[in-house]
Amino acid sequence: MDLDRTRFGPAGYPMDAPRKEAFSYLRSIGLGGMEYQAVRTVPKNEELLSWVKKEAKDNDIVLSLHAPYAINLASEDEAKRRASIERLLRAAKAAHKMNAKHVTFHPGYYGKLGREKALKLALDSLNELVSEVRDEGLRVELGPETMGKPSQLGSLDDVLIMAESVDLVIPTIDFAHIHVRKGGCLKSKEDYSRILDEIERRLGTLNGLVIHFTEVEPTKSGYGERMHHELGSGYGPEFKYLAMLMAEREVRWLVISESPLLERDSLKMKRTYERYLRRYQ
Ligand SMILES: [Zn+2]
Repeated sequence: MDLDRTRFGPAGYPMDAPRKEAFSYLRSIGLGGMEYQAVRTVPKNEELLSWVKKEAKDNDIVLSLHAPYAINLASEDEAKRRASIERLLRAAKAAHKMNAKHVTFHPGYYGKLGREKALKLALDSLNELVSEVRDEGLRVELGPETMGKPSQLGSLDDVLIMAESVDLVIPTIDFAHIHVRKGGCLKSKEDYSRILDEIERRLGTLNGLVIHFTEVEPTKSGYGERMHHELGSGYGPEFKYLAMLMAEREVRWLVISESPLLERDSLKMKRTYERYLRRYQ
């Protein structure tokens, strides 16, 4: 998405303010973004959608929207696959109405198809979706998220292939998921750096990305996520290395905090980032 600068905000409404003051509260504490959570149902209420749009605009909060979890673009069951496309289209309509320019979603599962066939089917689904998004005149980009379980469609390579193959697709980069998918692969600045190099090489730019960040506890096996933890929990991955690279490479991102401490940890991320920004200027 077009971004004037790197912005930070929570996944969902802030925890420390009543809902009707959510957007003015985010601004008052110095945040500039939020990912609207439509993870169970997509809001249809026009009054609500226009309220969100106006509040976000009045308070200079840039929005993305998280689509329902119940999506599988690679389902072998044609009815389920079509229902997933429909659900994503509804999410895109809601996003358009609230002026959220990016729709994050979980692409689905490899299932019995295996990686190659599942990916191919997901690309077909995305192409169908994009033509419907165009027909409806919706001004949104579609953001398949990097997923944490090895059985999920959504390795970094998967989502980059989707972006390379289908118009309007720009992935949502979830670093906690990248970390636990490979048994805790983000340990040093270089580990992050390799990921950023790969994204830049394949997409042509690092600017405009929507990022999810939280520390995360892996499952017993070491692969996949068990639960999210606050920054500094010790579980990792560590935000400071990413913050260094963001400052060095002068990226413009929307960084969404998925920590249990939501906007409180968003502010921590913003302060860490600004500290490195000053150092590199
Ligand atoms: Zn997600």
